[in-house]
Amino acid sequence: MKKILTAFIFSVLIMALVGEAILFRYLYLKEEERETAKAETVMEMESIIKQMEEDEKEVEIEENENGYLVLVDELPVYAESDISVNTESSPLIVLKRGEEVTLSNEGNPYSLIQYGETGIGYVWSDCIRSKRECGQFTVTRDVIVIDAGHQEKGNSEKEPIGPGETKTKDKTASGTQGKATEVLEYELTLDIALQVEEMLKDDYTVIMVRRTSDVNISNKERAMLANNIKAKVFVRIHADGSENPEARGAMAICNTPNSKYENVRANYEQNRKLSECVIDAYTKETDIKKNDIRESDDYAGINWCSVPVTIIEMGFMTNREEDKLMQDTEFQQKMAKGIATGIKNYIKSLQIE
Ligand SMILES: [Zn+2]
Repeated sequence: MKKILTAFIFSVLIMALVGEAILFRYLYLKEEERETAKAETVMEMESIIKQMEEDEKEVEIEENENGYLVLVDELPVYAESDISVNTESSPLIVLKRGEEVTLSNEGNPYSLIQYGETGIGYVWSDCIRSKRECGQFTVTRDVIVIDAGHQEKGNSEKEPIGPGETKTKDKTASGTQGKATEVLEYELTLDIALQVEEMLKDDYTVIMVRRTSDVNISNKERAMLANNIKAKVFVRIHADGSENPEARGAMAICNTPNSKYENVRANYEQNRKLSECVIDAYTKETDIKKNDIRESDDYAGINWCSVPVTIIEMGFMTNREEDKLMQDTEFQQKMAKGIATGIKNYIKSLQIE
C-alpha cells in the first residue's frame, strides 16, 4: 500500500515537472526549437520513469529471495553445537507452519536462518522453502517424510541402535549393489524416493531426508528428523542384498510388539499397518514377489522413531533379474506408484478408524 502511494505521488510530481518544462520552453523558444525540446523533455522523463520502475522490480525480487516459509507444523531451530550431534537436545525455538524466516547460509542438510527480530540458528533445509516456490506448500497438510536409504559414503562411526541402548551400529551402512547393473543402493533409493515425492507432493507436505548423495546423515538422525517435525508417516526406502543370487522379492520391516524401546512399542499396531499398506500396494503395482513382513528390533532407523515408520526393501539387487528390472524407467514408475499408493492407503485407513 505504502509503495502504491509513493508511486502515485512520484507520478504526480513528474507530470507537474514535465508540464512546467514544456510550458517554459513554449514561452521562450522559437517554434521549430519548441517541438524538438518538447520531444526531448518527454523522452528524458520517460527514461527516468522507466529506470524507477526497474529499480522497484529489483527491490521486490531481492525481498522474495530472502523470504522463506516454514512448511511443517513444528520446526525446531538448533544451536550450531547441537546439529548432527544431538538433535534430542532442546531446540532454541520451535517455529510454526507458515512463519517467515530469512535464509542466511544454505547447507545440506542444515541451513543457517534468521528468525524473529534477532534469532539465528539451524533448521533442516528441506523444511523451509522460498516464498516464490511456496505456492500451496504452507497449507495445513499431512507431513510425509521420505528417506532414501544410505548415502554416497557410509559412516562407520557408531551410534546406539535405540534410546538408552549400549549396543551400537554403524551410523550409516554403505548398502548393497546391483549384480548385473553395478548400480549402488544409494543411487536406486534416491531415484525412487524422488519419484515418490513427485507423486505425493500435490496432496501432502513431503519432506526429504536427502535430495543428493553427498550427505552424512546417520540412521538415528533420520529418525529424529521425522520425530521432531511430527511426521504423519515416515517411509524408509531400501533395496535388499543376499549372498544367495536366487533370493528375490520385496518385504517391509517393522518392530516387534515386544520391543524394549517404549517409543516404538507404543506404535506397533500403526507400524505393522503401515508396513502392510506399503508392501501390499507395492507388490500389487510391480508384480514383484511379496515376502513376509519382517518384525525386528535390530534397526536403529526404526528403534529411534516415535512416529509411524516402515522400511520397504524393494527387491534384491543381488538378483540379476530384479536388479535389471529395478533400473528400467517404466518399471521404476510402477515402484514409486506402489509406494505412494501404500502411503495414501495408510493415511486413508487412519481417517476411517
Ligand atoms: Zn539398505
